[in-house]
Amino acid sequence: MLHPALNSARACIFDAGGTLVHPDWPRLSHIAEKVSGRAFEPSEMGRAFGEMLRAVGIEMQREGFVLADDMKRPHWTFLRMYGALGLDEVTCESVVKDLDGAHLERHLWCGVDSEVPRVLDELKRQGLLLAVISNTEDGRLIDSLDASGITDRFDLLIDSHIVGHRKPDAAIFRLALERLELDAAEAAYIGDSYVHDALAAQAIGLRGILLDPLDLHSESVCPRVRSLSELIKGSA
Ligand SMILES: [Mg+2]
Repeated sequence: MLHPALNSARACIFDAGGTLVHPDWPRLSHIAEKVSGRAFEPSEMGRAFGEMLRAVGIEMQREGFVLADDMKRPHWTFLRMYGALGLDEVTCESVVKDLDGAHLERHLWCGVDSEVPRVLDELKRQGLLLAVISNTEDGRLIDSLDASGITDRFDLLIDSHIVGHRKPDAAIFRLALERLELDAAEAAYIGDSYVHDALAAQAIGLRGILLDPLDLHSESVCPRVRSLSELIKGSA
């Protein structure tokens, strides 16, 4: 049995970062420690990152989704996260410089929860098309999925940097639907950003689902799941 939001759906479309793939927290901690002498626990970074994204969502909704200047920089999310963890500005800049090099060697978003392959395989087994729509800063969605070992499970990948539209713009969701040859109501979209993923998808008629592992979004009008395995709860 699939999650009720997937009832008779023909496709399940995923956000990538924070949904299918996660930052390589041990590497991010190691780099911070090398530069600043401070190491962070993955859970500590995950929470700071989640809270930062929630605040960014609220801020962007208020500003009409105009990107602030610092959001045009590579790794701006990590820059803000390290700041929230108490590193000063100069240290944050040094850490992010080292992140650049590390990211070139291997995509920083290469962590994948152990449940993910199983969830994708079960959805596939139940006949759903699987796709990804991701906002990237550098057009490297495929590197991220390759490093995570899950690329071959998808029927369609849409990278904002390549197609020239970004979530929450309806155009990027419509492009995916067009390529999948589906109507909006036939597809579910799941992501960890309330405004860029769940609400944006729902606004154009997809079944928006919010992945909210830390229970940060009690305001959500979209169904929420704590983990991707809830999509296939009761199945195989
Ligand atoms: Mg995300």
